[in-house]
Amino acid sequence: MISRASSAMAAFPCSRVRSGLRVWPGVRQLCFRKGLLYGFLRFLSTPLKTLRGASRSLRVNQFCSVVNLFSTLQIELVPCLRDNYAYLLHDVDTGTVGVVDPSEAVPIIDALRRKNRNLTYILNTHHHHDHTGGNAELKERYGAKVIGSAIDRDRIPGIDIVLKDGDKWMFAGHEVVVMETPGHTRGHVSFYFPGSGAIFTGDTLFSLSCGKLFEGSPEQMFTSLKKIMALPDDTNIYCGHEYTLSNSKFAVSIEPQNEALKSYAANVAHIRSKGLPTIPTTLMIEKSCNPFLRTSSTEIRRSLNISEAADEAEALGIIRQAKDKF
Ligand SMILES: [Zn+2]
Repeated sequence: MISRASSAMAAFPCSRVRSGLRVWPGVRQLCFRKGLLYGFLRFLSTPLKTLRGASRSLRVNQFCSVVNLFSTLQIELVPCLRDNYAYLLHDVDTGTVGVVDPSEAVPIIDALRRKNRNLTYILNTHHHHDHTGGNAELKERYGAKVIGSAIDRDRIPGIDIVLKDGDKWMFAGHEVVVMETPGHTRGHVSFYFPGSGAIFTGDTLFSLSCGKLFEGSPEQMFTSLKKIMALPDDTNIYCGHEYTLSNSKFAVSIEPQNEALKSYAANVAHIRSKGLPTIPTTLMIEKSCNPFLRTSSTEIRRSLNISEAADEAEALGIIRQAKDKF
């Protein structure tokens, strides 16, 4: 089930050719098609990751289509603090740039300066400082507008545009669906770009885990994860932290017979040994491997003594407690 991503991981830094659509090393960013050809090309295309120098200048690289009939959205991963990821969004047509969850300003300024770009929008998934720490400086420097949940209007520094569940906001012609995903915090939202098959999940869904329940119940987190799970399986998931390797150890400990998980965990260890990001992951990988999306797994329930009668939210709560103590 995870062959696409696994093979992509195995493929870097070499080029891949699949069904006639070429990708090549040196493609510096992730390019997605908008428009009619999108689904077709997405089917034909395979993610590609390549190594680009030191950790501060790591890029997540995927495919660029050969033919550029429609505008594209590029996504660039920017490592921040110890293990946070911010993401730069760049619309090729208009030059519009946004950033998701700037933990700090300097790495974002550096990344923008390298390409001589301005910053128009700051999107925050939630109010925690390691997701908003760069807001004030970036807003002052570039005049960028800050976007976040209406619930967090008093907690997100410099917020200008408040959105709520189901709102559709446009980023330079790309539809952005706001999904309230509480559990980690009350006002947590995820930003879904349906035209690009990408979702920014902040601290709600990580690869192989979910966020700690600081302000929410297991029921809320379960409902939030269910919403994300309803998206297409090939949705790329861009989360707020590089926690995948440590998460994999817990996941394997409670579901040691899960072959897909074992295979993914081995890939993750390999990727991290080279200092590369494991993000984006895909919903398909997470459904196969992430214990918090596998609350009905007999093996997980047996490992943690969760009764068969327990509902999925209850099971999630028990898995979360076990992870907190792991
Ligand atoms: Zn957080």
